[in-house]
Amino acid sequence: MNHIADNIIALQRKLPRTVSLVVVSKTRTQNEILEAYNAGQHIFGENRVQELLAKKRLLPDDIIWHLIGHLQTNKVKHIVPVVSMIESVDSIKLLSLINAEAANCQRKIDCLLQVHIAEEEVKTGFDAKEIETVDWQAITLLMPNIRIRGLMGIATFTDDRQKVRSEFRSLASMFRSLKKRCFNDVPWFNELSMGMSGDWEIAVEEGSTIIRVGTIIFGKRIN
Ligand SMILES: *Cc1c(COP(=O)(O)O)cnc(C)c1O
Repeated sequence: MNHIADNIIALQRKLPRTVSLVVVSKTRTQNEILEAYNAGQHIFGENRVQELLAKKRLLPDDIIWHLIGHLQTNKVKHIVPVVSMIESVDSIKLLSLINAEAANCQRKIDCLLQVHIAEEEVKTGFDAKEIETVDWQAITLLMPNIRIRGLMGIATFTDDRQKVRSEFRSLASMFRSLKKRCFNDVPWFNELSMGMSGDWEIAVEEGSTIIRVGTIIFGKRIN
């Protein structure tokens, strides 16, 4: 029995059509990722630039890679040529560097603004206040080689389902007001990336369009 393939097929069956699945392959081997790929999975998420680059070289060309972890400014030039989406944009400076590098490569990179919604202080991302006050429309006009596709958030790691739900709900509400304020006539501003292995069902109920899951596909990470 092929458990990775089974897990993907079972999860795809439960997911509404409007939600896309990013399989998080950090720490997983080439063979594990290939098993997922052979089960029909084509979008994979990695949180480290070096790891993503190394895996990309070994794996099929039509895999769509999302960067989901903090991006250091000195790694922008390495990642821009190979990813289709950067889900973890956490500063305007980073956005502008991505735009400049994408222009160099004649690419257009999809970006999500990561918003800090969890209570832990270590989690990176924009504050709600910045999302609500910055003129993102002006930024978009200045940066033709990026497309801001929506928001991404990571909920607090807790058993308190109500707390997780309220964090997702506030992110979804932020998404809607940002859409109205800055992206009303922008059809591609339509992605809300929230939900991981432990909380994806709540996220989907609260309006997620992208879930990022690793553990429920591959099993527990050991490192
Ligand atoms: C590791 C990671 C995930 C997936 O976590 P699981 O609990 O294994 O599903 C999702 N999003 C981000 C940003 C991650 O770093």
